[in-house]
Amino acid sequence: MTPCVTALVCPHCQSHLHGLRYDVAFTCRTCNVAVLFEQGKAEVQRLHWAAAKIAEAAELYLPVWRVRGQLDLAQGTPQQQRCAMRLLGEPTIYVTGFQASRSGTFGDLGTSLTRQADKLSASSPPPLTSPFGGIVRRMDETIRLAELVALQLVDQRCDVTGMTLRLREPTLEIWAVPFKQEGAALKDLVLGTLVPTLAVDDLEELLSLQLLERGAQKKGNP
Ligand SMILES: [Zn+2]
Repeated sequence: MTPCVTALVCPHCQSHLHGLRYDVAFTCRTCNVAVLFEQGKAEVQRLHWAAAKIAEAAELYLPVWRVRGQLDLAQGTPQQQRCAMRLLGEPTIYVTGFQASRSGTFGDLGTSLTRQADKLSASSPPPLTSPFGGIVRRMDETIRLAELVALQLVDQRCDVTGMTLRLREPTLEIWAVPFKQEGAALKDLVLGTLVPTLAVDDLEELLSLQLLERGAQKKGNP
């Protein structure tokens, strides 16, 4: 098999794209987009920057996927299906896009955001030059996880035994969520949940990117 080599340039403006070692999507800050490469084809997603709800300075932004779709239920009883439709209807589900290990211990930010979706709003103006990266989760994997989260949410209110749940015509958005370091953890500035810094593989690199960008800004504006 011939290896596929993709040039990491923005399909819109031809600028170099930014990303970390394990990332599956790379960003162009000029166009404010993330570009995912699937089998050599570029899928371009606009970046949505979340506003901090906790009044502290964001040090970096990490990715969260927003998944919307229609519930497609099968194999359940009419009662189960009615319960699921009443609870979720047309669900909006959040799935962390960065590496988040040990979410069993620390809680899962995606699930927390799904429960408190009203807390997430767009930042105005968007902090376009802030450090952002670490998108390790592909779209198909994200949709599967969103379906799992939706099923878990229904399961808390009605028995889902035997029922299958799919999201029909899912649409995805990438949200950049503000974080700051707090001891050995990263605190998200929307809900205030903690993620162990260990969970973010390339944190050092991400923060050094930040320093480089700040340095570059200083050079540009002496
Ligand atoms: Zn561009």
